Parts: sequence; structure tokens; C-alpha cells
Amino acid sequence: MLALVHAVALVGLTPHRVRIECSRATGLPGMRLVGLPDTAVREAEDRIRTAIQRSGLRWPQERIVINLAPADLPKVGSGFDLPLAIGVLAATEQIPAASLAGLCACGEVGLDGSIRPVPGTLPTAVGARDLRTGRLFVAEAAAGEAALVTDLEVVGVRDLTEVVALLRGDRLPRESLPTPTEVPASTLDLRDVRGQPVARRTVEIAAAGGHHLLLVGPPGCGKTMLARRLHALLPPLEMDQALEVAAIHSVAGERAPDAPLSLAPPLREPHHSISAAGLIGGGSGIARPGELALAHRGVLLLDELLETPRWILDALRQPLERGEITITRARSRVRYPSRVLFVAATNPCPCGHLGDPRRACTCRPDRIERYRARLSGPLLDRIDLHIEVQPVDRRQLAGAADGESTAVVAARVLEARQRGAERWGAGMLARDLQDHQLRAGCSGRAMSTLVRAIDGLALSARAFDRTLRVARTIADLEAVEVIAPEHVEEALAYRLSAPVGL
Ligand SMILES: [Zn+2]
Repeated sequence: MLALVHAVALVGLTPHRVRIECSRATGLPGMRLVGLPDTAVREAEDRIRTAIQRSGLRWPQERIVINLAPADLPKVGSGFDLPLAIGVLAATEQIPAASLAGLCACGEVGLDGSIRPVPGTLPTAVGARDLRTGRLFVAEAAAGEAALVTDLEVVGVRDLTEVVALLRGDRLPRESLPTPTEVPASTLDLRDVRGQPVARRTVEIAAAGGHHLLLVGPPGCGKTMLARRLHALLPPLEMDQALEVAAIHSVAGERAPDAPLSLAPPLREPHHSISAAGLIGGGSGIARPGELALAHRGVLLLDELLETPRWILDALRQPLERGEITITRARSRVRYPSRVLFVAATNPCPCGHLGDPRRACTCRPDRIERYRARLSGPLLDRIDLHIEVQPVDRRQLAGAADGESTAVVAARVLEARQRGAERWGAGMLARDLQDHQLRAGCSGRAMSTLVRAIDGLALSARAFDRTLRVARTIADLEAVEVIAPEHVEEALAYRLSAPVGL
């Protein structure tokens, strides 16, 4: 008897169909797995044998050959336990082979026969739908997560006994309800940023156009506070975007299967001592997503940017430009989306107090130069907005009027984004625009203002586009269709306001 069950192998977020063919064969009793299974898949035999026996089912006294096809595809993790167990039970005629038609399964089998959720259930469910493998059996604890995927029949199962009862037709599946969605309310209000009009304006522009932002200033001037409030200005995710974000977190094993689906964009704040694999992605086997992918559709905040090794910063350049990370390995190439809003913060010098009115800088000029040289030009060129943040003294704070609240500014950000989406298509931000799209919406006078500035300041061609993108966002925040000279002038100010040398 040949039994066939389907499973989904994930290479990054990309699903691949795996056919699990089980057959009895002559030879010594035991299970023989062929088709590039990794260690966890090989260990499955021990778990499945014990689980089948302890569930009151029969472990075959003959040889079982299991082929995982296609052979050249890496198959990783304990999620293959469940389809393997189902295959063995069907090959030994303990469940009818016909009941396996259009069946896909994913889950780890415990020694007691219980079915446990595995990381990556959500992208597996997306894959099962896209590959049209048919109905999907998953651990009951992960059924809500899988049921977020529409157009797919999801069956949550507790243990092998229930799996057998369902496939024999002795029991009807329970309905799997999708996990609820939520937008966690942020307690961080832009109103708390007092006496810093330029900083407030810059985070608004960054949020509206998705522009990367560099904050330079001494310790305690509120760089992190600004970055977190910028995150709170981003509009909630659409349902399909939230699923995409949750899928990445699921692959990384960072998502509890029963957690509500968050519509809030992610905010990631890795420490500056993070490894390249931790930031970009990597690890053994199939590369796992790093902080950059985990921040997809949200904010990646890297504080003390210049403390991070230069070669790691250089590795950020391409993913920031393309909105995608590619990690190539001997056996696989993995892609993760990384459309992040990158916020970098740094002290102006090693001691942190260059330009600080409260304290004098104690750094030697050559040390300052070396420190600055670590922020490579090409990475800086990919950051549209540079501002210097100064500490606000108590007198200024006492006199400063309350600024607008996050709710007011977020509404303006949303309107600006909607204006862009109507013009260029859903999800398009000013930072994504091509040269011709930018020029089309620019007045002749604004263009000559920009050309004069570029010539006078010897800015790169990339700086030209980036300035125009920021100007586009500023015009959209004012609900103006054509970019005017004052929009270009304001955009140029955010390129040049960084202190000397940056
Ligand atoms: Zn200093």
C-alpha cells in the first residue's frame, strides 16, 4: 500500500510542496527516510514510533520506506512529524488511504501522541493555500493562526487518536476560528516632544513618506524618544500586510500561535552589539530572518550607529535600497522582505558632547574624524533625512507651548500617504518613486532650485533623487499636487543640517 500525504517546506517565506510517499517494503523492520531530511526529521522516527504505540495504534513490524520528494529541497524541522505519522498509519492500513486525498499536515508529534505547534505555521498555511495542497491539519493550538488564511480548510488536531478518528470519518472536525486582530494602543505621544519643532517636523515627514532618518545628538537629547514616537505615527497595517509581518515572526519562532494578529507595524530596537546574522538574517540550515526582516513594514531603530561595525552597516545598504534581503547558502537562497523605515541615531563624537551646550567635548580632532569615517558615505546617501537634535534646557521647556498630539499628526500622515497611493498605486510611498515619477510632479522653478543646489553643494545623483522624494512628501503633507521651490528648499535643509563632516 502506497500512502501519499502532502507537507509544505519553507525556504525563508517561500513555500514548496513536499510529497511524502510511504510504502511497506521487504527487509528488517524499521523506518527508512530518503530525500534529504535534516536531523530533526530523522529523529522523527523515535518520536513517531513511541507516539503511535502510546496512542494504542500499531507500529509496523515490517520495513517502511518513506520518500520525501523532491529530493533536492531541504526539509527542516519537527513539523514533518505529523504528515510522516499519518503516512505510516495509512501505509499500514490503520486509516483509509483514500482519506488522505488533498491532505496536507504540519505539526510536531509528542511522545504521548499530542500534536504541538511548530514555528512557521502561518507561512505554511499561506503556502498550503497557494500551492493548493488541500485541507491542512495543524496542532489545535496553532489552528487559529492558520485559520487567518482565507480560502483554506484548516483542521486543528490535539493528538494522533483524534487524527485517526477524523480520517476514519468517526468524528467531525471542530471549526477553527481565526485569532482576533488588535491594534495595541501606543502610550507614546508626540505632544511629549516639547521645544523641538524641527525634530517634530522631521518625524512627521519620515512617517508620511517612509523616509529613512538619521538623528545626531548628545546622549539624553531624546533621540530614542523621537524614534518611538515616529513609529506611533505610522498607520495600522492592512490585513494582508499584518499576515505577511506575522508570517516572518512565525518563521523566526517569535510569535505565540494563539497571540492576536497585531495590526500595529513592528518596532525593532536591536542593541548596537548585534551580530550580522542577528541583523541581516542567517544561522545554520535555512537562514532565519534577522531584525531587518522582523521590522518589515515597521521601524528599525539602530541606536549608537557608529558603535556597530562598519561591515555590518555596509550589509544594510542593499536591503534598505531594495526592500528585500537575499541570503545565499550552498543549498538554498532565501529572500525576506525588508521594507522598513530605518532610523539611525548616533552621538556626534566618541564622548558624545560635540556641539552640546551643556558640556564641552573632550575628544581629539583625529578621534572625531575616525569616528565619523565609520559612517560610510553610501549608507548615509540612503538616509533621506538628517537632523541634529540638541538637548532642550528647562527654561525652553517651561516656555514651550504644547505641540500637536500624535493623533492629529498621524491623521495628516495617513492623508499624505493616501494621496500618494491614489497617484501611484496602493502601498507606494514617496521613498519608492522612480526618477520619472518624481520629475513629473515637479514645477520647473522647483527643479531649477534643486539643480542649483546640487551643483553648488556637489551632491551625488542619488542625493538629487532623495531630495526630490522628500520634497514630494512635504508637498503631499500640504495637499499640494505640484512640488514648489519651497518644498525643495525644506527638503535640502534636512540633508544639510547634519553637523560638519556627516
Ligand atoms: Zn566628543
